[in-house]
Order: sequence, then C-alpha cells, then structure tokens
Amino acid sequence: MEAVFISKLKPLLDAVAEQMALYVPKKSGEYYVYSKYDPSANKSVEFNNIRTCTTVKEFIFAVCELAAVYPEPTGPEDIKPFAVFGLKDCDLRSIEILDKVFTEEEFQDVLYVKRRENMFIISSDCFDPSESCFCNIFDGRPYAQSGFDLNVSQVRAGFIIEAGSDKGKDFIEKHSQLFTEADQSLLDERDKNRAQTQKQLEQNNAELKFDATIKEIMENGQDSAVFDVEAEECVECQACTRICPTCHCFYLYDTRQKDYFTKMKMWDSCMRVGYAEVAGGANPHKILGDRIKHRLMHKFVYFLDRYGIDMCVGCGRCIETCAGGIDQRTILKKLSEEFKSKGKTKSKVAK
Ligand code: SF4
Ligand code: SF4
Repeated sequence: MEAVFISKLKPLLDAVAEQMALYVPKKSGEYYVYSKYDPSANKSVEFNNIRTCTTVKEFIFAVCELAAVYPEPTGPEDIKPFAVFGLKDCDLRSIEILDKVFTEEEFQDVLYVKRRENMFIISSDCFDPSESCFCNIFDGRPYAQSGFDLNVSQVRAGFIIEAGSDKGKDFIEKHSQLFTEADQSLLDERDKNRAQTQKQLEQNNAELKFDATIKEIMENGQDSAVFDVEAEECVECQACTRICPTCHCFYLYDTRQKDYFTKMKMWDSCMRVGYAEVAGGANPHKILGDRIKHRLMHKFVYFLDRYGIDMCVGCGRCIETCAGGIDQRTILKKLSEEFKSKGKTKSKVAK
C-alpha cells in the first residue's frame, strides 16, 4: 500500500476514536504516559518523540485481574476493541515477546489473546532517543519494522501514514477522504529523519560493543562478582521488572467472596525475595546478587534458548527507573571485559 499524508493528527485520531477507545501519550513531567483520548477536548495531540514511560504490556497483560471464578465458572471478561497510538519499534518487539509466552504454546492466556485480537496498533517514529535507549544492540530501529496496523512518521508539513496490516489498509481505504498521497519528497524527508535518529542511537551506544554474543558473555559470567557488587546499590524496589515491557511473571492467588471464590492473577517480580521460595522454605535466590543474575540470565539465555529471541528490546526503561542507578549495560560491559580477560589468560596458559 502507498503511504498517505495528513497535515494534522486530530482528524486521524478522531476517526479512530469513533470506532473504539483510543489511548494516546500525554506528557507528565519529563515523561509520557498513556491516557484515554477525548475527541471533544480541543487540545492538540502530542506526538511522543520517544517511547512512553509506562509500557504497552499494561494494555494486554493487566497488573491484576480476575482469572477464574469457582465453583460456578463464569465466562472471560468481554474485551472491546481499543487502539493505542504512539508505540515505538521497541514496544512492538516487546509485544512479539509477550505473544510468544501467552499465545504460542500449549497454554494460551484467554484474556491476553482476546486483548491482542481487539487491539489496533498505531505506531510512530522516534526522533529523540534517550541516553538510556540501546535498541540498536538488539536490531531495533527508531521506526516500526513490523507488528503495527498503522504507522505515523512526523515530517515538517504533517504526518505520513502507512498501513502494516489488513486492518490498517481497511482503515485507510475507509477514511480515504482524510488523506492525500505522500509524495516522494515527503518520503525522502522521512527516510532522512530515520537515518539521523539511527545514527544518534549508534553514537549513544558506540561503547557497547561485544566480542561475543550476550548469551556467551552471560553464560561465562556465572561466577562473576559483578552481580553481588551491583546488588550493593539495589534497594529491591522491583521497579526494573514492573516497568519492563517484556517481563511477564505473574502469580495466582485465591480470594473468598460471600458465596464463591475467585482466582486472581497479578504481576510478580523475580527481584522479590520470596519469588523463588518453595514449600518448606528453601529459596535458591535468597541472595540479591543471584536475583539480579537470574533476571539477566532469563533475558539473554533462558528465553533465547526457548523462543529464539532475546527477552530485552533495549528500551532502557529499567535503567531510567532504577533507584540504585544500576545500568544493565554496565553489567554487560563488565562481564564482557571479564570474558575477554579469561580468553587472554587461556591463550597465555596454552602457550
Ligand atoms: S530489560 Fe530493561 S532495556 Fe530490556 S526491555 Fe526490559 S526495561 Fe527495556
Ligand atoms: S530497579 Fe534497581 S533498585 Fe529497584 S529492584 Fe531493580 S535493580 Fe534493584
């Protein structure tokens, strides 16, 4: 499908909001968070130049929800169509990761599947990556590559819209009166913007170069003291896992109502001290450094082994949110240095 052009965002968003609930980024302090779009509010819509602070997972994997009722089961909650505007490439790749967990294997999460089916994704290009963004390390781009229905690229004169799915194509066809054709000069401007942002990302992360895969570096760093050293700064707030768009652990608990019981499902965190505790009280991750190590092993080794992709999209949210100032890029760099020095020692011994 040809790209189309629209000079203002509002008519596009109004058209979406006519059909379904729409969530858009809103500035809160120096960050963006999501709020419900109100077409009647006569305010200009903000185009978020960077990913939002809160993540897309909150729309599809609820913080806390009813999973089941017994002894008389009820059907799953009715999920209505909804749209989210302003998602970035890292967000789309985090959805791909969550899809693997909740939709692809034997045990499908009914509510997750329903939310995904009812979600209309309007992604947009990044212009202003933060110092914490390192998506380029995981083949991310400052523009959507796949997994969107519509994508919006801002240019000087307005916005270029592209469809990435049949749902997106249908939308553009149905609302063709809103758009004009995006001519080549607009597309060239968009491509130039994208190349500039990509260059900026690469410059920001120029020092983040590894001689081996992150998986190899992690596997070889099992005995490293790095995790315990970093743990000295950790205050165990769990924010790194809550804010992460790919962390998906949850626990189930029961509540008793007047004449029935409910099973609730709620986000969990592997940074929590009781997370790995088993019946009888044994806990393989009692030590905080071991929990930090486990979190990164899950991201870069276990998930990769099971699903074939890393469980990190380099969005940098965990870095920005960490009360202890812990930066997983620093941990990886330190492990990489240790990996290299082990190699040097080995070759010296071999001589
Ligand atoms: S681990 Fe950090 S950088 Fe990676 S996806 Fe999660 S929040 Fe983003
Ligand atoms: S956000 Fe930082 S301080 Fe909080 S649990 Fe994670 S590593 Fe520890």
